Amino acid sequence: MENVLVVGGAGYIGSYMCKYLSKNGYAPVILDNFSRGHRMAVRYGKLYEGNINNDGLLAKIFTENKIAAVMHFAAYCYVGESVTAPDIYYKNNVSATLNLLEAMVKNNVNAFIFSSTCATYGNPIDVPIFEDHPQHPINPYGRSKLMVEKILKDFSQAFDLKYVCLRYFNAAGADPEEELGEDHRPETHLIPLVLQTALGMRDQVEIFGNDYPTHDGTCIRDYIHTDDLAQAHLLAMERIMGGFSGDMYNLGNGKGYSVNDVIEKASEITKTSIKTKVVNRRQGDPAILVSASQKAIEELGWRPKYHELDAIIETAWKWHKKNPKGYEE
Ligand code: UDP
Repeated sequence: MENVLVVGGAGYIGSYMCKYLSKNGYAPVILDNFSRGHRMAVRYGKLYEGNINNDGLLAKIFTENKIAAVMHFAAYCYVGESVTAPDIYYKNNVSATLNLLEAMVKNNVNAFIFSSTCATYGNPIDVPIFEDHPQHPINPYGRSKLMVEKILKDFSQAFDLKYVCLRYFNAAGADPEEELGEDHRPETHLIPLVLQTALGMRDQVEIFGNDYPTHDGTCIRDYIHTDDLAQAHLLAMERIMGGFSGDMYNLGNGKGYSVNDVIEKASEITKTSIKTKVVNRRQGDPAILVSASQKAIEELGWRPKYHELDAIIETAWKWHKKNPKGYEE
């Protein structure tokens, strides 16, 4: 069975990826420092605890396990926080990733799947957004991810490193088997905040601006289920293992939902009236981000299963109902 190093394997998407890999005949090996992940989310694979800029630990992992590919989920991912604390975004998302890549080159591990983001596009000129859309990120989070995309291109030309960048739109939903779900501390993402409000854990949802140039004035995003993201990672990894390198793929549903749309759908699903309050815009938020993901469908054979927001929110709702306080640890 081939080993896949899942960096950030205790986080929201990384932990689900480990489950998906093990269900598909791979052995996940997890590296996580638990700065934002959860011990209870580590249920599949062997765990190493530590940082990706710990060269000794990386060498140990690469020596003790023959690693066929590395998937990298260990990044900070809050747009708002990246504006107020850019230092930790560049340190963690760029500098530490550079260290991981250097260690891979040194240890002859040559397949890398990078979790990139639609935030690398900035304010889109054309919607839906194709992969060749200009990349002018408007927040440090997006810039940190774009820097790694550029580093990867240079590394792949200089060294024996094959890679794929997967530009996620808005990751959402929970494990359909209700074992793993979304639990950020602090939580900043819209869907979990709305569901926690439905559960009575929060008084209201703040809507960050209702004066955007959209149908109802609130920001539009394209929500994609973690199961569909995991499927794309597996396909990308198998493509790299087949010798392919150096491409990027959008991962989204191609449908945009406003903040108000999300709240409305969540109210229907949870059968709750969700109290809201309009507040100022959050810095760094583009008005509309909607993907064109045909490239992943055509070239990777990606077949997303969760096309509708309702189905995505339903999986999240089941998990939140079962785990109102998130992972208890
Ligand atoms: N949002 C909001 N209130 C919140 C959290 C998020 O209005 O409490 C909005 C946010 O401005 C964005 C959308 O919801 O337009 C999705 O934000 P989220 O943080 O979930 O994901 P992001 O788009 O930042 O990756």
